[in-house]
Parts: sequence; C-alpha cells; structure tokens
Amino acid sequence: MTTYADFHRRSLVERDAFWAEQARRIDWQTPPQQICDASNPPFARWFVGGTTNLCHNAVDRHAAKRPDDRALIWVSTEVGQEKVYSFAELQAEVEAFAAMLQAEGVGQGDRVLIYMPMIPEAAFAMLACARIGAVHSVVFGGFASVALASRIDDATPKLVVSADAGSRGGKVVAYKPLLDEAISLAAHKPAKVLMVDRGLAAFTPVAGRDLDYATLRATYLGSRVPVTWLESNSVSYTLYTSGTTGKPKGVQRDVGGYAVALATSMDYIFGGKAGETYFSTSDIGWVVGHSYIIYGPLIAGMATLMYEGLPVNPDAAIWWSLVEKYRVTVMFSAPTAVRVLKKHDPALLKRHDLSSLRALFLAGEPLDEPTARWIAEGLAVPIVDNYWQTETGWPLLTVANHIPGVDPVPTRFGSPGMPMYGYGVKLLDENTGEELSSPDQKGVLVIEHPLPPGCLQTVWGDDARFVNTYWSSVPGRQVYSTFDWGLRDADGYTFILGRTDDVINVAGHRLGTREIEECISGHAAVAEVAVVGVADTLKGQVALAFAVPRETPATPEAALALEGQIMKRVDEQLGAVARPSRVLFVSVLPKTRSGKLLRRALQAVAEGRDPGDLTTMDDPGALAQVKTLLHK
Ligand code: ATP
Ligand code: MG
Repeated sequence: MTTYADFHRRSLVERDAFWAEQARRIDWQTPPQQICDASNPPFARWFVGGTTNLCHNAVDRHAAKRPDDRALIWVSTEVGQEKVYSFAELQAEVEAFAAMLQAEGVGQGDRVLIYMPMIPEAAFAMLACARIGAVHSVVFGGFASVALASRIDDATPKLVVSADAGSRGGKVVAYKPLLDEAISLAAHKPAKVLMVDRGLAAFTPVAGRDLDYATLRATYLGSRVPVTWLESNSVSYTLYTSGTTGKPKGVQRDVGGYAVALATSMDYIFGGKAGETYFSTSDIGWVVGHSYIIYGPLIAGMATLMYEGLPVNPDAAIWWSLVEKYRVTVMFSAPTAVRVLKKHDPALLKRHDLSSLRALFLAGEPLDEPTARWIAEGLAVPIVDNYWQTETGWPLLTVANHIPGVDPVPTRFGSPGMPMYGYGVKLLDENTGEELSSPDQKGVLVIEHPLPPGCLQTVWGDDARFVNTYWSSVPGRQVYSTFDWGLRDADGYTFILGRTDDVINVAGHRLGTREIEECISGHAAVAEVAVVGVADTLKGQVALAFAVPRETPATPEAALALEGQIMKRVDEQLGAVARPSRVLFVSVLPKTRSGKLLRRALQAVAEGRDPGDLTTMDDPGALAQVKTLLHK
C-alpha cells in the first residue's frame, strides 16, 4: 500500500505515464500520439492526435455489450412520470436525434444551444451533439430572456433545442415565450428551433423556423448515424460559470481529456461500477449535470437517474425513496439542497431502505459542519465534500478512496480534502506570489500549468480573457487562480476559506467572510447566513451579517436578543474584530440559480452601489427584502 500523498506526487512527476494509463479506460478510434502538449502555456492539449467520441464511450460501447441494462432513469414528480431507457434504447433515441440535427445541416463544430427542462430529450440532445461533433451549449432552463439572449450571442448557435415548458413545484413555467423574446433580443438569429412539446403550455410555432420534435422523431427513429471520430482536442461543449462574482465566463471543454478525466474520477473518486445506479440531484444546466448526470456515469456504464422536481415534493423523503427504488449506490448533491432538507423532520432520512447507498458527495459551496453532521448522522453513510469549479470539470479537492493499492483517506469535517491526482495545487501569498509551505497559512489556491485533462481549454472565443482572467492574477507567476482562499493543515487537508474577493479588511485585519459565516451558522437558531464586508469610514471595512433564522423571532426584542447572542458567539470564537456590526434577519438570501450566495450583490446593496449583473439571480425578492431592511 502507498499513501495518497505519494500517489498524488507520482501523478505529477510521471504525468504522461499516469495519464497514458488512465486513457485506457476509454475507447479510442486512433490512439493518442502525444499524451500532453504543454509547450504553449497556459494552454494544454491532451491526448494529441488520438480520435475518440464522448457519445460512443457513454452509450454505444455499453449498448454493444449490455444492450438491455438500464442507462437512463427519468423521474418527474412535477408531471408524475417515470421512464427507463436501456443502453440500446438510449442509443436509438440519440441516433434519431442526431439524424434530425444532420438533416437541419448541423455538423461538426456547429453550435447547438440547449434550453431545456430536466427531461430525457435534453440528454438525447447533448449526446446527439457529442455523437456528430456539434458543440452543445446548455443554458439552465430557469434563466429568463436577457440571460438567454447574451448566451445566444456568445455561442451563436445554428440551432436551438427547447421545450414548451418546465415545471417547478407544480407551477408550469413556459419556456417558449422566454426563448422567443431572447431570440428577438439577440443579435444572432439561430436558423432553427427544435421544440419538444410536453403539452404543458400551448404555443404557436414560428413558421419556417420552429420544428416539432415528435414529428421528426417518428421519421428518424431507426436511423443509423455513425459517430464522428474527433481529434481529442476538438471542442465538445461550452458552458457558463454561475456568475457569482460577475459576468459569467464561457468555459470551453475538449473531448478526449474530458472523457478520460471523467472515467478516472468515476472510479477513483466515486467508486461507481458498471451496472449500478448514480443519482445526481443537479441540473443539466450546471457543470455537475454535464459531468455527473450525463457523461460521467454513462461513460462508467452506470445507469444515471435524472430527476425533475423539488427535493421536498411530495415530501422531503422523495430522494431517499428513489435511492431505495432504484438501488442507487452513489449520490451527488449540493449543500444548499441539504440545507433545504434540514428544515424538515430528520426522521424522513430514515424512512427508506438506503442499504444500497455507499456515499453522498456534496459540492458547489462550502459545506458547513452543522449541515455535514446533520446529514451524516441522518443517512449513516459517508458524506464526501468535494471542491471544484465549472472550469475544472471534475473535483479538484476531495478524498479519493477507491484507488487500488492506496490507503484510504479519512474525511475531515470542514475540509473538502486533498488535491486530486493530476492537479498541481499550491497555496500562494497573494502579494509576493511565494508558496506557503508551512501549515495553517492562508493563501490563494492556484493550479500550476498544465491543467490536467478535463479542465477548460480556454474561454470560448476569447483566449485573451482566458489568459488575463485566470493566469495573470498572482504577481510574477503564471499559475491558474481559482480565486478562492485556502489553508492547508499539518496533515495536508485543505480548507476553503472563501473567495478572494470575499475577504474583508477590518482595521488592518484580513478576515474571510466564510470563517465568520461558519461561526454564526453554528448557532442553533440560525438556518443560513451570509456575511459581507461593507465600507466603514473608521475601520476601512466592517462585517455585516444577514441570517435566516430557523424560526422568525416573535418580537423585535427577541430579534435583538438573538442578534446579541450571535455577536457574542463571534466574539468568543473569532474575536471582537470579526464581530458583525449588525445581524439582520431575512427570510431568504439572494442566490444564483445554482444555489450560490450572491455576496457581491449583498455587499453592493449594503454600500448603496449598483449590484451589477443579476441575470443569474434566483429570487429578486431576496434582494428587495435586504434593501428594505437596510433603509429602515
Ligand atoms: P463565477 O465564476 O461566474 O463567479 P462561480 O464561481 O460560483 O461563478 P461555479 O463554477 O459554479 O461558478 O462555482 C465554483 C466555485 O464554487 C468555487 O470557485 C468555490 O468558490 C465554490 N465551491 C465549489 N465547491 C465548493 C466546496 N466544496 N467548498 C467550498 N466552496 C466551493
Ligand atoms: Mg468562479
């Protein structure tokens, strides 16, 4: 047995040998001639000269061997339907879809924008693009016309795939009017719109532009569309970041490197095996949906469970009933969703037989200890935090406990874990660029060139933005900045302390807002909290806290008392310097549609500034509430 640290070191020192081994996990039409071309930093090219195909690896190769095994399980509690597709059935649907795209003149390199609810046709569309080498750009179905229009203009798609409507909490959300408006707002006009009509919201097709999916499917089902073999560094898709810190960035991904990275992570990190079922509660509009609803599980030969609905409908045990019914072995969700469940009876976590489940992985934002403990105790399975970004495509920090011959690494509350194999992770002093070598020092978390397979190739259509945004922020060093603060303890566990722009400076003391949030969320009466720094004439900045109480304080006096308790807690645990100037109680915090706290918007409003790009915000009421409170 070797230690994980040694394994990690080898993955960097013997980089090409390591990834050449991993590359055997997927099928290549022609093998790579070079494992990594890192000669033009900060760009990296993986598996140069090799040709492969994501759809072949996700679908065809399993359909050939295990045609009747489950591939896609779709459950919608919104429309009360369940459908199961075997690998053979999935392949037939994908080939039919690919035939439709080809008939409309979509070919290799053409962009297809997918604006869809969580329905099987969305998966068919993505895989069909991958099959013929078209570049998909999935836009989260919850976005409205302005956000959609800017993505249409950035991706300039030949064709858009959409549906009449989605449904959220039983409420039909018509997509078509939003799409029509977005197209009229956009400078770029897609030639065709392929409409899946679910019969939820009536619409009038635009003559000459809109196509009906059901009609075309009837024509094309049974068509054979051979996969297009693509050089490994061809573009597979573009996808936008969440827009938490500003205007979203269009991440561009390759084909071969992504396939290899996902296949490796499915094994080493998730321990998922062919024939089993994987359930990610994310949405195809996010990177987790791309990597771990669609491509990762299918490449590993697993069935993937795609769920349309809320985590609390018909009740807060719905996920666990699906785990029981489909014998889910690996599950993936986000802390924000767990915090939703936490408002419900913990007995619901015990109502179903979860004996198939081996672990629950959580990613997307900091996993606070109280939330982690609550779900760990309730489910009695390991809870694994993992840290990554839209840009990286797969986990950057976590514990990889399924590597043969390598000692497992125990999880540690509050830390996502250790740098994953392939990632040359460093903590740097933001001012000097020097590496922090002793434990417990706060620094910027960066990755050295070359980024491992699966990470972004560049920003779509904007190499200069890629270089200037990500690789030019630390003085004197060309390293990829995650724009997150980290700290490594003496045992090598890395802790994420928040985003580099979420650090506040109180009278010369630099404080991570995350630390203060962690402290406040430990108070039993607090369900959720956001801390921002606001300008202060005396101290430079002061912390301001917005807390969602578990129960609304009955009187203004009770609210004041709770505020006092919270301040005392911060004083005791972090010191008076970190004490928020106020703790304001709100019923909901402003978040992106992917569930991330919009601290920059809170901060701007608190400082009386324009909150900037809010196109990715979920509930506008959240910010309105804050404004009212601040101006009281
Ligand atoms: P944008 O880059 O557009 O501002 P974003 O950074 O929120 O938006 P994502 O790629 O969806 O876009 O999120 C990645 C970020 O989420 C990370 O950089 C980090 O700040 C945070 N994050 C993800 N997972 C974790 C985790 N396990 N613990 C702490 N933070 C996490
Ligand atoms: Mg980001």
